[in-house]
Amino acid sequence: MSDKNRGVIYLEPGKVEVQDIGFPELELKDGPGVHPDNVGRKTPHGAILKIVSTNICGSDQHMVRGRTTAPAGLVLGHEITGEVIEVGPGVEFIREGDLCSVPFNIACGRCRNCKHGDTGVCENTNPDRPGSAYGYVDMGGWVGGQANYVLVPYADWNLLKFPDKDQALEKILDLTMLSDIFPTGYHGCVTAGVTTGSTVYIAGAGPVGLAAAHSAQLLGAAVVVVGDAIPERLDQARSFGCETVDITKGEPRDQIEQLLGVPEVDCGVDCVGFEARGHGADAAEAPATVLNALMDVTRAAGAMGIPGLYVTADPGAAEEAAQQGSLSLSLGTGWAKSLSFTTGQCPVMRYHRGLMMAILHDRAQIAKAVNATVITLDEAPRGYKDFDSGVARKFVLDPNGVIAA
Ligand code: NAD
Ligand code: ZN
Ligand code: ZN
Repeated sequence: MSDKNRGVIYLEPGKVEVQDIGFPELELKDGPGVHPDNVGRKTPHGAILKIVSTNICGSDQHMVRGRTTAPAGLVLGHEITGEVIEVGPGVEFIREGDLCSVPFNIACGRCRNCKHGDTGVCENTNPDRPGSAYGYVDMGGWVGGQANYVLVPYADWNLLKFPDKDQALEKILDLTMLSDIFPTGYHGCVTAGVTTGSTVYIAGAGPVGLAAAHSAQLLGAAVVVVGDAIPERLDQARSFGCETVDITKGEPRDQIEQLLGVPEVDCGVDCVGFEARGHGADAAEAPATVLNALMDVTRAAGAMGIPGLYVTADPGAAEEAAQQGSLSLSLGTGWAKSLSFTTGQCPVMRYHRGLMMAILHDRAQIAKAVNATVITLDEAPRGYKDFDSGVARKFVLDPNGVIAA
């Protein structure tokens, strides 16, 4: 075993680099973004993983575009799958050699929220506020996993072990999506009330939107409509049976009416977040666009799932209010229609086992839906640039050459 650990570092807006980072130990050391109260935190309940796959996410892009307060030097990466190479003395059931999916939420399994299954808002892992993740701004400072190795705290609770290693390696491009986007897209649909026969509008055809679209199909939706401005991403949505809305042509309601005969859907899912573009030909960024459009098109008494990320501070926002996270919502529309909303981190653990079974038994083809594309760790800076340009790909890093082999 080599003890060299290299990881993808955020340097400045538009720039990431692969650098040597320390080899993880069963203790959280000081470093960029590590909360002072987390420095020196012991993790006898933790495991060290050799990473088999780790994906680049739209959530990383918010930081890399300079739209958050992420510090320079932050090690990125929260979508991790890997093999356990060491366990702490407090780990009882996970063993060396286990191949596991790591939920991007870091959860303790002991607090009120974890006990309720709300692992996206664990109270004990981030000293700032409930909710934690690897390699992410304001999430406690747990070191990211776009790297060779990573520490996973509370390993017995957090890790999902794949039942058969060889079978898992064969399906690794699907299983790698269990750490975030597949459960996230699925959660967006479940919380929007998608069920047999539903009509669904999904804003955003990035990897999360495409994962939501595939999830809506698994849940039995009658029609899945996906909206975006990028033709290549809309083509990708059509490639597995979705209808599409081109938001450069105006408000989604008109195109939805052309498709469904009525300007509304049963369920609305926001897979865009605060960097939303306005609707129409040359529209500028307008952070409340998707939320307002979903309130417009979702049927009265319907529900909206909002996995798209919204922030409490956006240094790059055009308007002052938006810089503090306040958006111009047409909440009266939502109120008048008795809509319900679900926001926040997806509690990955609620869904990952079921979605793993759907993958292992060939019910789900998530890698194909999001066009999973494998690159090396050294190619990560290029992957970030290509992803930012809007290609219809989900980049999967293969930091230890396991997938290539
Ligand atoms: P992405 O940036 O690749 O995709 C966003 C897409 O939205 C882009 O294709 C963009 O062209 C499109 N878009 C912009 N404005 C739009 C509009 N008005 N209507 C329709 N589409 C529009 O990102 P992604 O990886 O697919 O992630 C999507 C969002 O989900 C991000 O905000 C990300 O942070 C968030 N996310 C949340 C969770 C969670 O747990 N809640 C987990 C993962 C990702
Ligand atoms: Zn992610
Ligand atoms: Zn907890």
